[in-house]
Amino acid sequence: MKKGLRLGIDLGGTSVKMALVDERGRVVDGIRVETSGKPRKLVRSLKIAAVSLLKGRRPLGTGVGVAGDVDPVRGVVRFSPNLHWKNVPIKALMSAGFPKPLFVDNDATAAAWGAYHVDLKGRSKNFVLLTLGTGVGGGLVLDGKLYRGATGTAGELGHVCVDPDGPLCGCGSTGCLEAFVGNRHLVRWAMEEYARRGRRAHEGLTPKDLNHFARRGDPVAKAVWKRMGRALGTGVAGFLNIFNPDTVLLTGGVAAAAPHFMPSLRREVSVRAFATPRRAASILVSPQNNDLGVIGAALLVP
Ligand SMILES: [Zn+2]
Repeated sequence: MKKGLRLGIDLGGTSVKMALVDERGRVVDGIRVETSGKPRKLVRSLKIAAVSLLKGRRPLGTGVGVAGDVDPVRGVVRFSPNLHWKNVPIKALMSAGFPKPLFVDNDATAAAWGAYHVDLKGRSKNFVLLTLGTGVGGGLVLDGKLYRGATGTAGELGHVCVDPDGPLCGCGSTGCLEAFVGNRHLVRWAMEEYARRGRRAHEGLTPKDLNHFARRGDPVAKAVWKRMGRALGTGVAGFLNIFNPDTVLLTGGVAAAAPHFMPSLRREVSVRAFATPRRAASILVSPQNNDLGVIGAALLVP
């Protein structure tokens, strides 16, 4: 990777992160911009933010990660439920006011590229990233290169089905990995489980609480993580069989609860994955790095 700074922009649902990142993935300077409304208006506020962040510095280019279905070749956001965008030619809209060349990609794909450089320092050839949060995202680095698939849509690992009779997922399908592992689904299942056991769950329960309760030995919380680990292990076993990665990295808020879900995850993987890919893969949990998206976006600039 060429030495020098890159401008990274991570376009999320509620706020935008913008950062200057060096060739080793270190954030040199950063700024946060509120996401507001229409694409043109957002691009205007991004331009203003870029000027104040750059302070006359001239990066090698700009990389943009967007939550949603992105066409990285044309630089068009086909659909972003978080931003309420449909067919937005973001690359064209950003053709002035940002360092060039400019690259656009899906945010989880960008995060995988960020994790590949920052967490693994490129010491991996075949890598699967899973981001665990409200949504469950994924990204793939295969043979040392980002894998985007035919339309840039590859890596929707959260929407792989792990149980066709499972709960309804936000995507419209049932039993997706996300429908077992996503924050809202974890909490919903915990509430149901408390109710079934005639116990009152406390208001505004979060996965963080469930982690805390499990540590104190709460049987419902422990059961929730066990079930989550089973679903995640089923998904991961499939990814091992398909991609034969050397590394699978789990990141995001609930990765902190790894001690509670890893045993059932590993058990499931050992039952379902073939022995050779299973032995070849390290399944790691990363300390949460909220900047992976913006770092990866910046590193889209070669
Ligand atoms: Zn789904």
